[in-house]
Amino acid sequence: MNEILLDKLVICNKCHSLHRKIKLKDAKTAYCDVCENTLYHSHKGMLKSALALSITTMIVFVIASSFAIVKIEMNGIWHDLTLPFVFVTLFKEEFFVVGLIVSFLIFIIPMVHILLYTTVMFFFYFKINKKVVGDLLIAIAKLKPWNMTEIFLISVLVALIKLIGYAQIELGISFWALVVFIILDIYLSKEIKLLDLWDLRDEIYHEKT
Ligand SMILES: [Zn+2]
Repeated sequence: MNEILLDKLVICNKCHSLHRKIKLKDAKTAYCDVCENTLYHSHKGMLKSALALSITTMIVFVIASSFAIVKIEMNGIWHDLTLPFVFVTLFKEEFFVVGLIVSFLIFIIPMVHILLYTTVMFFFYFKINKKVVGDLLIAIAKLKPWNMTEIFLISVLVALIKLIGYAQIELGISFWALVVFIILDIYLSKEIKLLDLWDLRDEIYHEKT
């Protein structure tokens, strides 16, 4: 069976029956006629919501990394603990390896991940840079296993609980921004699958040519 023909087939992941893939006109979702499982969605309405969602996620990320995550009282003075401050302190205290791992896992990778996502959505929106979009989607796939924002939130919570024993703390605006960022980031990765983005790429640039 050649590749082009395979491209037009879709297998139901519940009952494993094979279906021919057709372009959805009015319907938003295609269901399996054997077991009624969802086969695939129409990507038409996806682009605008995905673009809005990725821009929102990026703004929330900027807020999360600009203000205090927690405020700590030490010797009567309140200190703001921001994300960059945590990294600088780790490096200053010569925890180079920990500093490097922490800044990559909880800052650089999530930032690059959301930046790539947003860039792809912009290119889709303006129907430009088909080749670059392909490269970016491959980069997103490679980055995915390293994007562990939920683990980050858990470590922040553990650190906070430990801190409560030593000092008086108050949650800062960035803490809540961080929670929102992680929820949005998880939603974005779970709701808009990479496979859907490849399909969307085909639809968008095919329409243009
Ligand atoms: Zn089925």
